[in-house]
Amino acid sequence: MERRVKKLLRLIGDKTDGVLITSAENVRYLSGFTGSEGILLVTHSQSFFFTDGRYTTQARQQVQGFSLQCFRDKWKDIGSIIKKLGIRTLGFESRHLTVAMLGDIEKQISHLALKLFGAELDGLRLIKDSGEIALLRKAARIAHNALQEVLPLIVPGVSEHDIATELEYRMKQHGAQGPAFPTIVASGVRSALPHGTATEKKICAGELLTIDYGVQYQGYCSDETCTFVVGKPTRRQKRVYETVLRAHDRALQMVAPNIDLKKIDAAARSLIARHGFQRYFNHGTGHGVGLCVHEPPVVSARATMTARRGMVFTIEPGVYIPGWGGVRIEDMVLVTARGYEVLTCHTKKLHCLAV
Ligand code: ZN
Ligand code: ZN
Repeated sequence: MERRVKKLLRLIGDKTDGVLITSAENVRYLSGFTGSEGILLVTHSQSFFFTDGRYTTQARQQVQGFSLQCFRDKWKDIGSIIKKLGIRTLGFESRHLTVAMLGDIEKQISHLALKLFGAELDGLRLIKDSGEIALLRKAARIAHNALQEVLPLIVPGVSEHDIATELEYRMKQHGAQGPAFPTIVASGVRSALPHGTATEKKICAGELLTIDYGVQYQGYCSDETCTFVVGKPTRRQKRVYETVLRAHDRALQMVAPNIDLKKIDAAARSLIARHGFQRYFNHGTGHGVGLCVHEPPVVSARATMTARRGMVFTIEPGVYIPGWGGVRIEDMVLVTARGYEVLTCHTKKLHCLAV
């Protein structure tokens, strides 16, 4: 935790006296606190953890290296410590700071110069340490175990919602806190919706079926997409599937330290384009995964970062043909010293269900 706080201080620089951390994921990352009400004030000389009476016992057990403060009047109490410390320039997480929060803090301290940190803090959780990697690996394994149990239940006539519910139940049974995001089960023409969360629609024979699912385990998320065919695939279904799989494999094989992430995206995109499907691949190739299911880095045409050892991101090309259906194939990968390790577990070979 101490190393993480030092990293934060490096990111905010000497010109900012301190920074207020308000997002639950960064609070957890920096302090270990898992409750819903926790705020960190980190300065170059000392750090404070603020919570309310509901969480003081939990904070005493989880938080180390911070001076624990239980507030009664949140912004008044935090403001008085900021004043006492003589802080003149205070940083905030701009992507999390609400207008209400800003108003509250300005009411307490009038002379404060505010500095908004957005992309500057992206580097904080970018490189996963060994403990985080173990949790991500475990999250992916739990998700896989749950999916394995649910696949035999997928037969024509069962609804998407039934499958999503069963999958989320089994994730918990295997030790997950719950799903990392609303499970996507999209069948038939609905598989052309990249984010088609499960509905009451019944799954039919001959349809494509996309399941995009992930668990949260000790805060860490997994993210994987498998596309199946219910029954025997048609020639067109096979063709689209093979194209997406080749794009996925091509992008995956490029993953190694120092490669520009936009080149990984270009590799998947150009292969899909070569088969004439470019207008049906309308999102980036991947995103970082960690305490949030979507976090830096992005793997897209606009990506500016290069891969570094310890990054974890997804490779998830897709082809979505409106009125017909879609295929997405997603794995979560870790950048290793020499290349990559796939953390997600399900085979990406075309898998036909209920046959
Ligand atoms: Zn996904
Ligand atoms: Zn994803």
